[in-house]
Amino acid sequence: MRYIIVDLEATCWEAVRDYERMETIEIGAVELLSADALPYREFDRFVRPIVEPELSDFCRRLTTIRQRDVERADDFRTVFAEFVTWIGDTPFFLCSWGEYDLTQFRIDCKRHGFTLPASFEQHLNLKKEFGRLFGVKASGMEQALTRLGLRLEGTHHRGIDDARNIARLANLILPSWEANNRQKRDRDSGRA
Ligand code: AMP
Ligand code: MG
Repeated sequence: MRYIIVDLEATCWEAVRDYERMETIEIGAVELLSADALPYREFDRFVRPIVEPELSDFCRRLTTIRQRDVERADDFRTVFAEFVTWIGDTPFFLCSWGEYDLTQFRIDCKRHGFTLPASFEQHLNLKKEFGRLFGVKASGMEQALTRLGLRLEGTHHRGIDDARNIARLANLILPSWEANNRQKRDRDSGRA
């Protein structure tokens, strides 16, 4: 199975978590051609927010994304279309750390007058799977890396770097997730 690991950055404000207000400002993604493969291709684009185009100081500090990065970027409709083209036609599983990225995609698609493609709804929450696999409470990506003795590489809260780090975790999570699925399928077909 092919996996697209995605991580979005969005406009934000200190102590505010309002997904309807937030707008995507970066789509970072890597493609894995199988559960334990290294990233095969990468996608990284900034996105120009349209409702609140000015990034807050907090947002610039958190993400290191600069005002000029988003001002020079295309809007969500254009970048999302590029992303869909980049993903291509072969089946895939969309993966992210938590449910946030999928939620933000839905909100931004709606804001721009279209619906999220159905293929994106085949989504795997790696944070949840990590919790299940290691018998721990769902935790942040950095904590998950630390738990496995891995160091966060690159800049945290940059979509592409987060996606690359999540891919490293995915390589450890996906093989057992696939094995569990296989077992489940075998059990079900045995019963049928
Ligand atoms: P992340 O993938 O963890 O970098 O987070 C994705 C987006 O969630 C960021 O670009 C921000 O819009 C928002 N976010 C993350 N952490 C915080 C925080 N501590 N306070 C407010 N918003 C945040
Ligand atoms: Mg991120």
